[in-house]
Amino acid sequence: MKSEGNGTLYHVPSILYICCSSIFMTFEQLNLIAPILDALKTAGYTTPTPIQAQAIPEVLQMRDLLACAQTGTGKTAAFALPIIQLLQQRGENVVGKGPRRIRALIVTPTRELAIQIAEQIDIYGKYTKINQSVIFGGVGQSPQVAQIRKGVDVLIATPGRLLDLHTQRLLDLSHLEIFVLDEADRMLDMGFIHDVRKLLKIIPVQRQSLFFSATMPDSIIELANSILTDPVHVQVTPISSTTELIQQQLYLVDGDQKRSLLLWLLNDQLKGRALVFTRTKYGADKLVKFLQQSGIKAEAIHGNKSQQARQLALSQFKASKIRILVATDIAARGIDVEELEYVINFEVPNVAETYVHRIGRSGRAGVEGTAISLCEEEERPYVTDIQKLINMEIPTVMDHPYLPVKAANRELVPMKKPMPKPTPKKEQPKGGQGGQGGYGKKQWHKKSTGNKTTQK
Ligand code: AMP
Repeated sequence: MKSEGNGTLYHVPSILYICCSSIFMTFEQLNLIAPILDALKTAGYTTPTPIQAQAIPEVLQMRDLLACAQTGTGKTAAFALPIIQLLQQRGENVVGKGPRRIRALIVTPTRELAIQIAEQIDIYGKYTKINQSVIFGGVGQSPQVAQIRKGVDVLIATPGRLLDLHTQRLLDLSHLEIFVLDEADRMLDMGFIHDVRKLLKIIPVQRQSLFFSATMPDSIIELANSILTDPVHVQVTPISSTTELIQQQLYLVDGDQKRSLLLWLLNDQLKGRALVFTRTKYGADKLVKFLQQSGIKAEAIHGNKSQQARQLALSQFKASKIRILVATDIAARGIDVEELEYVINFEVPNVAETYVHRIGRSGRAGVEGTAISLCEEEERPYVTDIQKLINMEIPTVMDHPYLPVKAANRELVPMKKPMPKPTPKKEQPKGGQGGQGGYGKKQWHKKSTGNKTTQK
């Protein structure tokens, strides 16, 4: 199944499109220093992803960056690696015998994402002197404050706790050299715009800024313009393209049969772990209860759960101690589970972009995944919207025991056809798609536009 990664999300005038030169590029070619190269080897990374190949040299040149990339593209390393390198090369970060000062700040919308970025920085900075600390709300502030007092090079933070500690004068951002705003679109969705604006007033004007967003609507471009100076634009895997490694399936089902269908799938059809999405926290809890009662190990992860409970559920899921993690969209943002086999939309999301975010949880880092959507009659318009966005028809599975009678009798016709597809391109030789990024399957399976854009 192929999806066309051809959707350009936004139009910035006077842009020069440069074909991606990252085919077969190595980390060494990105001018990364030995301690970082060693850490990448230890982590088992062999090839930079397109976003890394494009962004790292520019960030090392101290350029501001506007990057359109969703999670799963390797975007964290795209900013973390050059930050570690720049800070390491700039040397010791202390005044006399005082503690280190915060020189890089990464702001993210969710705690899970913040923790994952921190974990990745630990991995990449393993053989350098750079340290990190992470702060977020929902837990006591004392351990976080104590950590900052000891001295921190890179601070990763959610906006609320960051401003809170700053207002209490418990952290000093006046020595900041690099500022990263990650998942800016989600930040806006979650209502953090005022916090971001407040933050911009307290960080130094002289700084390097890196801005990441999965989508680039006007509101995001406007925000980016207020933060960045003469940025380099990079763009990979537009939100409207779903990775070709994710197999997508649609199951039509009556609403009251969804649980039975899910159980049938989990017991009889699917092998492996599944991240199951519900629209509400209440729905997530109810579904977990049902699955547990049916003998399936499941936990929920959503905003009403304590931070500890969320972390515990996530680590158990990662360790395959539980098979099913039921999540709401916000809680799942940034969740990175290696080799996640299935994403199941127990409820079809009513915002088409959310579908792409959800299914991008599987098929990450080159591992194949399957995205299954259980669709009842009233959710069919959502599917039509999704198909328009991803520009393809999601195949409907007709062969299952809970198919509504109407659908079986073909009275319920399969979903409406999406927009006409662009003229198919000729088959390209493996690894040689020119401007399409062209990553051979052995290195990095993600489909990417691989286009880099710089302002004239
Ligand atoms: P991200 O888009 O930053 O959330 O990264 C998605 C996943 O890809 C994470 O599990 C990373 O550890 C992994 N990853 C990032 N860069 C590479 C790479 N160059 N090679 C292999 N895996 C990578």
